[in-house]
Amino acid sequence: MKQLFNFLIIFLVIIMMAVNTYSQNLERKDVPDKLKWDNSILYKTVDDWQKDYKSIEAGINKLSEFKGKLGVNPETFYRGLRSYFDVLQSFYKLSDYANRVSDEDLRNSSNQSLTQQSNTLGTQFGEVTSFMRPEILEISADKVKQFFEEKKELKEFKNFVSDILRLKAHTLNSQEEQILASAGLITATPSDVYGIFDNAEKPNAKVKLSTGEEVVLSSAAYTKYRTVPNRADRELVMRSTFENYKNFQNTIGSNLAGKIRADYFFAKNRKYSTVLESSLDANNIPASVYENLISQIHKNLPTLHRFLKLKAKMLGVDQLHYYDLYTPLVKSVGFKFNIEEGQKLILDVVKPMGAEYCATVKKAFDERWIDYMPTVGKRSGAYSSGAAYAYHPYILTNWTDDYESVSTVAHEMGHTMHSYFSNKNQPFATSDYPIFVAEIASTINETLLNNYMVNKVKTDEEKLYLLGSYLDLLRTTIFRQTSFAEFELELHKRIEKGEPLTGELMSTIYYDIVKTYYGNDSGACVVDPYIAYEWAYIPHFINYTYYVYQYSTSLIYATAFAEKIVKEGQPAVDKFYNILKGGSSDYPIELIKKAGIDPLSSEAFDLTIAKMNKVMDQMEEIINKKK
Ligand SMILES: [Zn+2]
Repeated sequence: MKQLFNFLIIFLVIIMMAVNTYSQNLERKDVPDKLKWDNSILYKTVDDWQKDYKSIEAGINKLSEFKGKLGVNPETFYRGLRSYFDVLQSFYKLSDYANRVSDEDLRNSSNQSLTQQSNTLGTQFGEVTSFMRPEILEISADKVKQFFEEKKELKEFKNFVSDILRLKAHTLNSQEEQILASAGLITATPSDVYGIFDNAEKPNAKVKLSTGEEVVLSSAAYTKYRTVPNRADRELVMRSTFENYKNFQNTIGSNLAGKIRADYFFAKNRKYSTVLESSLDANNIPASVYENLISQIHKNLPTLHRFLKLKAKMLGVDQLHYYDLYTPLVKSVGFKFNIEEGQKLILDVVKPMGAEYCATVKKAFDERWIDYMPTVGKRSGAYSSGAAYAYHPYILTNWTDDYESVSTVAHEMGHTMHSYFSNKNQPFATSDYPIFVAEIASTINETLLNNYMVNKVKTDEEKLYLLGSYLDLLRTTIFRQTSFAEFELELHKRIEKGEPLTGELMSTIYYDIVKTYYGNDSGACVVDPYIAYEWAYIPHFINYTYYVYQYSTSLIYATAFAEKIVKEGQPAVDKFYNILKGGSSDYPIELIKKAGIDPLSSEAFDLTIAKMNKVMDQMEEIINKKK
C-alpha cells in the first residue's frame, strides 16, 4: 500500500545474472515467435500507443479539476479517486508496453523514445496529483467515515485512504514538508561520496597470485578472486582487500555516520523515536519483526556452525577460516536443459502448488508471456512485470540451456503468478504488492525446484552439488544478511543515543558481530582480525536504510511455506493463496498471517532451520557412504 505514483517500481522485480556470451550474435528477427513474448495484445501498432498516450495525457490534466473538491461531498471524493485510479491503470498499461518493447533491443532509439515519453507522462501524473494526499489529510476523520458510509462504491479505495490517514501523525504541514524534501538534496551526499571513492579514487591493493598473475583488488576483482581454489591465494586476496580498507576506515566511517545522522534527522522530524520505526512504518511492519529476526537467528547459530564444520570437512581443511567461505562446496555438474525441457521440468516442479497454479503456468508458456532468447541489444538479466492489470504479466529472461536458466524462470514465474492472481482477484487499487511479500512467491518456486531435482538426479555428485548450493544460499541470504541487519541496528542505536560513532568503533562493532555469527570462539570458523574492516566494502550500508533484512525474512518465510505445502498439501496451498491473490488488500504482516505463519513467532525459523539440518543430514549420509 505504497503511496501514489511511487509504487510502479514494485512491479519490476529484477534479479541480475552474469552477462552471458551465449548466442551473442542472435538477432531478434531470427527468433521463432513462440520464444518471444506477445506484446500485440496491449497495442496492435505504435500508432495505437500514441493515440492512447494522447488520451491518457488529457485524462491526467483533467485530474486537476478535483483540486480543492475532494472533501466537498462523498460524490466528489469518489469521482476524484475513481478518476485517479482509472488514469493510473491506463498509464501502467502504456508504460508496460513502452518498457517491454524497449527492452527487446536497447539500441532501437524509436522504442527508447516511447520509454522516455512514458516517463515524462509519469512525472506529469505525479505533479498533477500531488494535491491529493495533503487534501485527503485535511478532511476530518469523522467526515471521511461518513463519506464511506454514504457512498458504498468507495469501499474499493478504503485501504488507500486509510493508509494515508494512518500516517497523519507523521506528516507535516506543507511548508515543513517542503523543507524536508529540499534537505534530501544535501543528505544524498554520503552515498555519492562513497560511490566515487570506492569505485574511482580509492587506491587499491595489488597482489601477485601463485599463478604469477598480478591483480589490482578493486571491489569487483575482490568478488571474483575470493573464490579461487588455491587457499593461500584466497587468503591473500581477502586480507589485502580488507587491510586496504583499514587505511580508510575513519574516512568511510565518518561518511557513513553522516548518512545515519541524516536518517535520524528525517525520522525525528517525522515524530518517530527511531529510524527503525520510521523505515518499517511505511509498510506498517512493527519493529518487533526486525528484532525477532535477529534474536531467532542468534538462537539458531549452532546450525550455521554445523554447516561451517561440514564445509571444512568437504574442503578437506582442518580449520575453516573466513576466507574459505566463498569456495564452492562441490564443483558445478553442468546440467543441460533446452527451453522445452525447462518448461516441462517447471510444470512438474510446481505440482505441489495445486491445479489452478499449474494450469496458469501452462498458460504462461502457451500464450507467450515469456521472452526467452538472449539476442543482440536485449536487456540482460531477468524480471517479471505485472503492470498491465487487465492483461497478463510478462517475463524477460536470457536462456542459456543451463540450470540457472531453469531456476531463473521458476523464480520469475513465482512473481508472475503473484501478479496474475492479485490482478485477477483484487480491484486495481489494491492489486500491487509490497517488497516485503514479493520475494516469497518467487523463492518458493526455487525451493520446490531444488527439492524436486534432489529427488530426481541419479549421481551423488549431482545431489551434493544441489544440496551444497542450497546451503550456501541459506548461509549468505539468511545468516549473512541478518548479521548486516544487526550491524545496521547497532550503528543507528549509537547515533540515536547521542554516542560518538567513528570508523574505528564501527570496525569493533562489526568484528564482534561476525565473530559471534561464525563461531570464532567455538572454533567453527576463524574470523581473522582484518575481517573487522569488511563493513567498509559493503555498499548497502550507505545506499539503503533497513532494507537488507527483507532478503533474509523473504527466504525464511518462503522456505517455511514450501515446507508446509509439501507436508500438508492442498490445505496449505489454499491458505497460501491469501498472499498470491491478496495484492495489498491488507498489510504484509497480516497477509503472511492469513497465509498460515505468524511473523512474530518462531514457526518460520523453526521450519527453515529444520530444513537446513535435513539437507545437512542428506549430505553427510552421501559423504559417509562414499567413505
Ligand atoms: Zn525476485
